[in-house]
Amino acid sequence: MTKSALSILNDTFGYPAFRHPQQEVVETLISGQDSLVLMPTGGGKSLCYQIPAIARPGCGIVISPLIALMQDQVDALAQLGVRASYLNSTLDHNQAWQIEQQLLSGELDLLYIAPERLQQPRTLNLLQQSQLALFAIDEAHCVSQWGHDFRSDYLQLSILAEQFPQVPRIALTATADQRTRQEIVERLQLHQARQFIVGFDRPNIQYRITQKQNAKQQLLRFIHNEHQNDAGIVYCLSRKKTEEVATWLCQQGMNALPYHAGLNAQVRAEHQSRFLREDGLIIVATIAFGMGIDKPDVRFVAHLDLPKSVEAYYQETGRAGRDGQPATAWMAYGFQDVVKLKQMLETSNGNEHHKRIERQKLDAMLGLCEITSCRRQTLLRYFAEELPEPCGNCDTCLTPVETWDATEATRKALSCVFRTGQRFGVNHLIDVLLGKDNAKVKQFRHEQTSTFGIGTELDINQWRSVYRQLVARGFIHVDMDAFGALKLSESCRPILRGEETITLRRDVLEKRSSERKSGNKYKLQQADEKLWQALRACRKQLADDQGVPPYVIFHDATLMEMVNYRPETETAMLHLSGIGQSKLERYGQEFLEVIRAHSNDVSPDTTGNDSATLEETLSLLLARMTVEQIALQRGISEDTVYRHIATLMQDRRIALRQALDISQDDINVIQDQLLAQETGEEGFRFKPVFEALDGLYPYGLLRCVRVAMLTNTVEDVAVL
Ligand SMILES: [Zn+2]
Repeated sequence: MTKSALSILNDTFGYPAFRHPQQEVVETLISGQDSLVLMPTGGGKSLCYQIPAIARPGCGIVISPLIALMQDQVDALAQLGVRASYLNSTLDHNQAWQIEQQLLSGELDLLYIAPERLQQPRTLNLLQQSQLALFAIDEAHCVSQWGHDFRSDYLQLSILAEQFPQVPRIALTATADQRTRQEIVERLQLHQARQFIVGFDRPNIQYRITQKQNAKQQLLRFIHNEHQNDAGIVYCLSRKKTEEVATWLCQQGMNALPYHAGLNAQVRAEHQSRFLREDGLIIVATIAFGMGIDKPDVRFVAHLDLPKSVEAYYQETGRAGRDGQPATAWMAYGFQDVVKLKQMLETSNGNEHHKRIERQKLDAMLGLCEITSCRRQTLLRYFAEELPEPCGNCDTCLTPVETWDATEATRKALSCVFRTGQRFGVNHLIDVLLGKDNAKVKQFRHEQTSTFGIGTELDINQWRSVYRQLVARGFIHVDMDAFGALKLSESCRPILRGEETITLRRDVLEKRSSERKSGNKYKLQQADEKLWQALRACRKQLADDQGVPPYVIFHDATLMEMVNYRPETETAMLHLSGIGQSKLERYGQEFLEVIRAHSNDVSPDTTGNDSATLEETLSLLLARMTVEQIALQRGISEDTVYRHIATLMQDRRIALRQALDISQDDINVIQDQLLAQETGEEGFRFKPVFEALDGLYPYGLLRCVRVAMLTNTVEDVAVL
């Protein structure tokens, strides 16, 4: 007997609806066809094969290079009541034998296998004797020699098509350009596969690139203001720096650990495991950290050094917000970053062709740093994806960049390079422009050059900004053979001759204590904050008892729904996203108790679940008063009234169309948008719905319609 895909999604995983294009992928596999899925991180890839593996007879075999993750994945599935296991080198002979027996006797829904294990004759033989539902090839880009994660054992996976022609295969990846995609198709023999390509956009990540002044202090301020107690990753270029920054953050009262390839394997494993299991830990890492980190609730990724390419930036920042909740990608960037990276590139081994490609990649990254328009549009364009409108969730959208006519300043800056013989670095050039009569200036008699002291209208930071932008744009290049001396490029001639003008971005220094209004964290009322913390503590306790990461119990988004909807019964609990039968049975009562224990915290008329105030709203609603009238009469906000209605609807005390004067047409329109935005495993955000409907319906109303959908009461006109 096979259960329908949708009922598995509802009952086992606890999600109300599929996200595009999960359903089509699932149906393709269930029908026995192959597919190739390209989906950004956090898009809900794993459901694409987990559900068909459960629905189809036999066991789904998942091939993944990330052995360190298998335990967590299997733990997470066990929480859902799914029979999953793994075969890799961490098991002893006896353990492996037992799992093989389970597979043979049809006791498994999913089995994770490392690619090198799969190729062993023993494993192939085992699979031949077992009933298989499908093969899922995760991180499929590892098969591509052009990609940066190439693994030779992935090349052998073509045997799946040859030896198991009747078993459908699905290849999945989050990073694949056209060329890599083609290589996946060729090497894995997926010519007949249906392709599902979902865009690269990660709308929940806010991109910000700021000017570097005192990077450590800036980082501290950023974490302090926006991500207190959040889990995050800080990337640095060198091993030494990761250790320094981690130590320094700890001295400032943060909980931070270093991670780099120079640490011994045991320390690395311990730091990684603590990062996965503890709440609010910061990892300060080189790029060695990341592949294999599938922690959904990383709330920020910070770069203290510039990544080498846009791909690297996208991949590293992409480790934030995999649960779909708001997250920040923050970077401090300055002149020295450009110099340092150019230096590394020029002194690297590799042939001239390779260097040219690397140079182009670095230039694209610099371009992203210096642009004055929407960063997300530029980022997506790099992956050949067009975002029609500016995103509204990056620094250049939130605080539009001022530009200035820098033609005169640029001419002075370039002349100064020329007059001093193209032999000096940026600090000395600025000293000359500012007319500093110091020892080095005297030594080279630069007080006698025509550019001495001609730049006093700008200060040292402004000149650094000018030089940085000129280097980034290629008017000046940094000569590493001459100790970082700046030299003029051909392209600057028209400006020097006065034939072209140039506009530069005006760098703004960050304000010291500015708290950002952009709202990255959940904004909570005081009473809600208490419940939120209590729910997190409960989750942590349950996770520690079982030795699993907290997000395996519930994602943040599910806890947030508990705060918003404050369910009082198991049935109400089951309506929340991320709670299926198995988790309800395991944890429902404990979380309900926490919610109950906090029911008195709620201050009336703010979050508004106090029973007296609810009763009053209910009686006014039944007297056919509108939300506006009730808000006015009671002196509370309309949003609070909507919240009352949502709670009353959840308790089945009133129906949507009984409470609100809303037409069926309006309900249909809103319902369509809510369904289109349903986020599956990532929790739910009303903002895209609100925007898609052009702000025609208030948030509170959208919330009420969603409650009606979750409680299957849309059609009802009266509940009593
Ligand atoms: Zn933007």
